[in-house]
Amino acid sequence: MKVDVKYTKLFINNEWVDAVSKKTFPTINPQDESVITQVAEGDKADIDVAVAAAKKAFHRYSEWRLLDASERGRLLLKLADLVDRDVQYLAELETLDNGKPVKNAVGEISWAANIIRYYAGKADKILGNTIPADGEVMSFTLKEPVGVCGQILPWNYPIPMFIWKIAPALAAGCTTVVKPAEQTPLTALAMAALVKEAGFPPGVVNVVPGYGPTAGGALTHHPDVDKVAFTGSTEIGRVIMKAAAEVNLKRVTLELGGKSPLVIFNDADVEKAALLAHRAAFANAGQCCVAGTRTYVQSGIYDKFVAKAAEIAKKRSVGNPYQDVDQGPQIDKEMYDKVMGYIESGKKTARCVAGGARYGTAGFFIQPTVFADVKDDMKIAREEIFGPVQSILKFETFEEIVDRANDSNYGLGAGVVTNDIATALAFVKHVRAGSMWVNTYEHVAVQTPFGGFKESGIGRELGEDGIQQYLENKTVTINLPKKPLI
Ligand code: NAP
Repeated sequence: MKVDVKYTKLFINNEWVDAVSKKTFPTINPQDESVITQVAEGDKADIDVAVAAAKKAFHRYSEWRLLDASERGRLLLKLADLVDRDVQYLAELETLDNGKPVKNAVGEISWAANIIRYYAGKADKILGNTIPADGEVMSFTLKEPVGVCGQILPWNYPIPMFIWKIAPALAAGCTTVVKPAEQTPLTALAMAALVKEAGFPPGVVNVVPGYGPTAGGALTHHPDVDKVAFTGSTEIGRVIMKAAAEVNLKRVTLELGGKSPLVIFNDADVEKAALLAHRAAFANAGQCCVAGTRTYVQSGIYDKFVAKAAEIAKKRSVGNPYQDVDQGPQIDKEMYDKVMGYIESGKKTARCVAGGARYGTAGFFIQPTVFADVKDDMKIAREEIFGPVQSILKFETFEEIVDRANDSNYGLGAGVVTNDIATALAFVKHVRAGSMWVNTYEHVAVQTPFGGFKESGIGRELGEDGIQQYLENKTVTINLPKKPLI
């Protein structure tokens, strides 16, 4: 499939520019390991230019700051329409750089266009409070944009992540410098072109591809960046928080990793539950922060469930992501090697009932892999694999499973499958995770907040919470005697 790559330069101040250093880096096609193209490699010097542009665009008398809030909403609506117009192109470009099946990319991008619309509608509904404060005063709060934002993206859902970072920021009136992941810079640049076409003023959105420690590090250490929003690993989340603390206490929201449990009770329909668990574990080739990778099954249906899970995994179609397949390649050689390492570890400790090997001979494809008889202390049960690997564990009682589900440093998602409402609600109450699903999994709606407990993150994205993370709360108190002075 030939996809036209139109943009490979940095996008700063609504212009396409080379890196100050003139350096470029290759972006690789995970399907065949070929170099797709060279992309301008931004580093500290470019981040400085981009942040200066974003700061200028945030100036109190800038074109952007003087816009009515409803006009910000209209620009976002225009952007959403442009995304819809170009959905097929964007999806094919996403597949080229990321390897996910085109049909999935189309679905994700259409879903993400509605995030833009949701926040477009919120732009002129950002409300403070009037507060009955003690004393001879009248008090109210103003919600104001937090300022210049640095937004650091992962490679697993490049366009949706670009959108769910910029849409609330722009609705709130912030300006932004986006650093896409080094593996997937192309669609962030294509999105930047649509931002310009939609009519956003220069400097409001800037996109600087480059490497994490250089471009990303420069953003997090920049004193003129007021907030960093990050999605990626817990390890880098810590680095970002530390940088923010050291430099200017910039606001930080972190959406990090997970090792989410999906718990299936004896009363579940085994066929339906196995399919649900399969999708929970294997969506996006397992490269999903909230993937339900710890599948706990109650002993009464355990054997039947394991057989069904293996059967479904073996039927999962893997291959050319431009064709009608369920799964493309992993993102890159590093992740391929990491996932294969976990598979080797699993083969030594648990029972492999499906997959367990590379798929094909070229590209970063891995067979959908299922391990049964997994124990809580095994590496594959504790660590985030971020690949097409499902671990199935047996349990007996409700009390036991709540403790086992919670026995993780992560707390991003959790699911329960049962027909008993009391069991479901007790599970929801006692398991600590940011998203809880009952008889469904990974249903992430534009309107509902998403984020993690514990080491899965700080703050929430999407929904009303998502825009609040881009607002400061300013309290205004006015002297107002209770009795008239005259
Ligand atoms: P990562 O290293 O956390 O990268 C995420 C983003 O942070 C990328 O844009 C990356 O740039 C940037 N970054 C890296 N080091 C940085 C630094 N010192 N300062 C500022 N930004 C920095 O994730 P990864 O290496 O792509 O994947 C590793 C693991 O992270 C995966 O195995 C998975 O467990 C987890 N992960 C989680 C999510 C999620 O949705 N929560 C998404 C992706 C990965 P570069 O692209 O240049 O490295």
